[in-house]
Amino acid sequence: MSVSPLASFSANVSSLDSRREESPSVVSMRTSFQRMHNLSRSEAPPTVAQRRAHLDALEAAIRRYQPAIIEAIDQDFGGRSRYETVIADIFPLILSLQHTRKHLARWAKPRSVPVHWAFQPGAAEVVPQPLGVVGIIAPWNYPVQLALSPLISALAAGNRAMIKPSELTPRASALIAQLIAETFSPDTVTVVQGGVHIAEGFGKLPWDHLIFTGSTRLGAIVMRAAAENLTPVTLELGGKSPAIIHPEHPMEHAVDRILAGKMLNAGQTCIAPDYVLLGRGQAKEFVACAKDIVAKRYPTLLNNADYTALANDGQYARLHGWLTEAEAKGATLLPINPANEDLPAARRKMPLTLVLNATDDMTILQEELFGPVLPLIEVDNVDAAIRYVNERARPLALYYFDRNKERVRHMLARTVSGDVTVNDTMLHIVQEELPFGGVGPAGMGAYHGKRGFDTFSHLKGVFWQSRLNAAGLMSPPYGKRLDQLLGILMR
Ligand code: NAD
Repeated sequence: MSVSPLASFSANVSSLDSRREESPSVVSMRTSFQRMHNLSRSEAPPTVAQRRAHLDALEAAIRRYQPAIIEAIDQDFGGRSRYETVIADIFPLILSLQHTRKHLARWAKPRSVPVHWAFQPGAAEVVPQPLGVVGIIAPWNYPVQLALSPLISALAAGNRAMIKPSELTPRASALIAQLIAETFSPDTVTVVQGGVHIAEGFGKLPWDHLIFTGSTRLGAIVMRAAAENLTPVTLELGGKSPAIIHPEHPMEHAVDRILAGKMLNAGQTCIAPDYVLLGRGQAKEFVACAKDIVAKRYPTLLNNADYTALANDGQYARLHGWLTEAEAKGATLLPINPANEDLPAARRKMPLTLVLNATDDMTILQEELFGPVLPLIEVDNVDAAIRYVNERARPLALYYFDRNKERVRHMLARTVSGDVTVNDTMLHIVQEELPFGGVGPAGMGAYHGKRGFDTFSHLKGVFWQSRLNAAGLMSPPYGKRLDQLLGILMR
């Protein structure tokens, strides 16, 4: 006998308390979820004014907590540039809050849509409605931004939300929990902290929508758990994002912008350029420009507060191992260490390492690098670069350096990636009017700005029948008159 999805969903909600084998923390998370779920079904959705008040309160809290956030992430990473925390964890949230507040009233209104003449003067509209309770799972690399940015969209759309920040940044996660507890009632927003055990339990709850930001590997696990409840998911995952330089593009400019994207947060960014495709014989020029730029931006590395450390020993060991393997298989490693410092592993400051002669059998060309390692791959021409990208998993981001608009259009048409920045890196992520998200193994769905509001809304179609209408013409007894009418309608 097959069980209908609706029946199994209800069972999941109603049996939340009966899972006695679960740890107290998982039970408490489930209880909290169930209360939010029930309230989302019994209470009126928040008005636009109430949602604005939520956003105002969140913005005030982020501003108030800014010094503490900087300190917590710095300690979690063992060295995170305070400016990078402001630029990449806090500033995008403020931009998003300002944009959302400005446009919220318009986004939340019923959206009138055209009606076919046969059904006029009836009217049709799309009515956005809160989905209910949204689950947010966040990673460690921008722990505050990636926990709170989905929250902005979820609250704007009128939902309640629960956040599971990363266990790998414990101080930042505890601070997020404190900030949220101080700002919202636990029936509106709450934070659960913990490792894999909590994360697994979190993924299994019957959310009205679940947004997961993290690795592609865990994305599949999260989606499998969500499928049990038919929970819709937005998956913000990772992958290898290429930077492609047209042979005619000024090399110094391309290297300047690629390194800006690569060295922010020491490359621990989902949309950091992962590798570079450039013309035959051009790697040498890239290397020379890179040495100059790194020396100017980071004259020293070890005690330079502007250069972020790898966030944990696992990250350091992973990259170190992959570089050792690449070198053993014949790659040339070019670490750029301007002051020739000793960089002890315990401090986790890894120099930008350019890699020449990398081959497909090396892990660095197979896995997302997520650190300051940058393979340079020479190809015959732009079409060969396009083929290289298309033969591999769809990337989360793509960067193309070329001032020729026609060729840029060609690149845009012939490659599929989550998003693109042309003649720079990463800046698409702070354009609130652009949807942010991946495609294929880099993720599904998108958020930010109006797209985020829509992601966490049910866009309900409503048809308003008019007093005067022709619907009766389609009712039995059928006959010649209907034949004539259908003849006209289907002409
Ligand atoms: P991760 O996948 O290891 O962990 C992400 C989160 O998932 C953590 O909070 C973790 O506790 C939780 N988790 C662990 N097991 C789980 C389970 N079984 N069910 C549900 N949740 C579980 O990722 P990470 O190492 O923290 O982050 C790095 C990855 O995230 C990279 O691949 C990077 O590209 C990606 N990323 C993507 C974006 C984006 O916006 N697309 C942004 C940042 C990072």
